[in-house]
Amino acid sequence: MTIAIEKQYESLTEEGAVLYAKELNFFPPDAELECREIGDGNLNYVFYIKELSGDKSLIIKQALPYAKVVGESWPLTLKRAAIEANALKKHAEFAAGLVPTVYAIDEVLAITVMEDLSHLKIAREGLIELESYPNLSKHIGKYLAQTLFHTSDFGLHPFEKKKLVSEFSNPELCKITEDLIFTDPFFDKETNDFEPLLREAVKAIWNNGTLKLEVAKLKNSFMTEAEALLHGDLHTGSIFASETETKVIDPEFAFYGPIGFDVGLFLANLIVQTVTRENDKRVVILNHIQQTWEIFSSEFSELWKTSSHPFKDTEGYKEYILDKIFSDTLGFAGCELIRRTIGLAHVKDLDSIEDDNQRINFKKQTLQIGEALILKRYEICSIDEVFGLLERFR
Ligand code: ADP
Ligand code: MG
Ligand code: MG
Ligand code: MG
Repeated sequence: MTIAIEKQYESLTEEGAVLYAKELNFFPPDAELECREIGDGNLNYVFYIKELSGDKSLIIKQALPYAKVVGESWPLTLKRAAIEANALKKHAEFAAGLVPTVYAIDEVLAITVMEDLSHLKIAREGLIELESYPNLSKHIGKYLAQTLFHTSDFGLHPFEKKKLVSEFSNPELCKITEDLIFTDPFFDKETNDFEPLLREAVKAIWNNGTLKLEVAKLKNSFMTEAEALLHGDLHTGSIFASETETKVIDPEFAFYGPIGFDVGLFLANLIVQTVTRENDKRVVILNHIQQTWEIFSSEFSELWKTSSHPFKDTEGYKEYILDKIFSDTLGFAGCELIRRTIGLAHVKDLDSIEDDNQRINFKKQTLQIGEALILKRYEICSIDEVFGLLERFR
């Protein structure tokens, strides 16, 4: 009689992660390994593992079967680990060098083994500390154009594209975005989290039917428009950077959605920096915003020439698509600004400001900018007009 012992999910300890790493044939067989759990601990474990005498290191990221939200644990699918690993691999096909290399995937343990990027810093942290990332927008513009074009109907045969749509079905993680970005901040929900001094501004949002109608339309786009394989969570906390390198991590929210969502999330997180910075330190961020859109749209246009899409040479079609991406980008950026100010998940850029007056003032600005971007997304036709809008609320 044989008894099949099936491998089952269990969460790793640091000791367990070391044993796991030893099985990978990555380190020399007799290497002594050190291990530290370095994640934020809300959704996933991130184990950093390095040989004691030597330079080799790797990262083991493990999904936990729950998320800690408002003090409670909610069950959350482990499948997101495979989604994340497969999105990293898919995006690496087109943006090699801009994502960490995946060394191994373990669907049962919900583990991704990947390149260690500890020599870089999370861009949000670096931007708050006024560090200079001269290549950030060039790299992210390229990442966006390459990953989004090549996974869209302009870069793929319709059969290949629809196969990917089904492989990257990610309903539970999408639901988090649908609730936390598109719904809850616009209603009096208990997941919201805002300072008492913002209450009047928040109530004005809840009572603004015109704004809510536009948010409802943006949410509908997010839920129905399978344009490209998105990263799905492209804020500056999902980007590692240095002066020379940029790497995009953490695509566990990856799914087929509207292209402007990825572009808009990144731009919104830069816009927060334009609010918090003094004039002389702010110019560099405005340049990043301009450069991101310029590189994205010019590289997307170049790739368009390689398309086999039947309408690719039809006068005005490429411009129509880029205009649509631009207005979506502004609308999604607006939603991100509002939810990062009054929703469940905040950003350190704003919350770490100690002076109460200044912090509240900045938060009022992100709310105003967010609202204007949503409402005026079809009127605004260029990044210069976005800058005009940013000046108006300063
Ligand atoms: P989560 O999905 O829980 O947000 P992340 O993938 O964003 O997890 O990782 C959380 C943190 O772990 C990052 O902010 C970073 O500090 C660290 N980390 C993640 N991936 C790597 C990596 N490849 N190399 C080095 N550190 C990493
Ligand atoms: Mg994190
Ligand atoms: Mg994540
Ligand atoms: Mg993260």
